[in-house]
Amino acid sequence: MIKNEIEIKVIESSSKGNCICLFDGSKYLFLDFGSNIANTKNFYNWNLINKDKIAGALITHAHFDHIQSLNDELANNLNVYGTFDTFFNIRKNEYNKNIITNEIEENKKYKIENSNWSFQAFKAFHNIEGAVYFLIKNKKTKIVYLTDTEYAEEIKSNKKINGADIYICEGNYGSTFVDDNKLKEQKHITNIVNHMNCEDVEQIIKNKTSNKTKLFIVSHVSIKATSFDVLDFIKNQYSNKNMKVEYLLPQKINHYTFNA
Ligand SMILES: [Zn+2]
Repeated sequence: MIKNEIEIKVIESSSKGNCICLFDGSKYLFLDFGSNIANTKNFYNWNLINKDKIAGALITHAHFDHIQSLNDELANNLNVYGTFDTFFNIRKNEYNKNIITNEIEENKKYKIENSNWSFQAFKAFHNIEGAVYFLIKNKKTKIVYLTDTEYAEEIKSNKKINGADIYICEGNYGSTFVDDNKLKEQKHITNIVNHMNCEDVEQIIKNKTSNKTKLFIVSHVSIKATSFDVLDFIKNQYSNKNMKVEYLLPQKINHYTFNA
């Protein structure tokens, strides 16, 4: 079997910014492009990233914490993939006109030219039009990137995202061990129906992963509304000899290497 090594480099993952970078040894693929511009610039410098090495950026939706670095000149000529509504929302605000917009439709399969990356987008259930989540493929490796959505029936019944090698899924808040008063203090509570919590994460681990799954990353953790007791519980409870469960600390660059 051909070895297919995928590196996962997390630039930022929180409500302040989201940008996760996949690297197959040849081309970088960004999942959202919403980290703080200075952080994205540092990442480019540290990794000696030049435009020839970038396949593109898949954008889940047009909230600021998923798109902010598109406004910098480092995104000039970047191939950006998003839905019609996502680009409509991006254009409503001042935005960098030099990005290359590639409009995508839900459920269709796309291959990114001159790379081994391909993907499919599915409808997400979030408080902005055009939000999607992604199934990404590189040779035989399957990666699911699921964030900023309610864990709706349509997602539960989407068998295409079952048994992936890697999952990157939002655990934006976790109420199991958090007392209600503490949770109510958070502004985020008003948005809670549009995000996945740690109980949803447990459901995904139980219903979507298989013995093929090697890595499960809980992302978009909220430093205020997600209980670290809950995250540690999930990590310890569901990590096994096949699958490693990890969670991303906000504001910290995380780095994983995955061998398929
Ligand atoms: Zn959002």
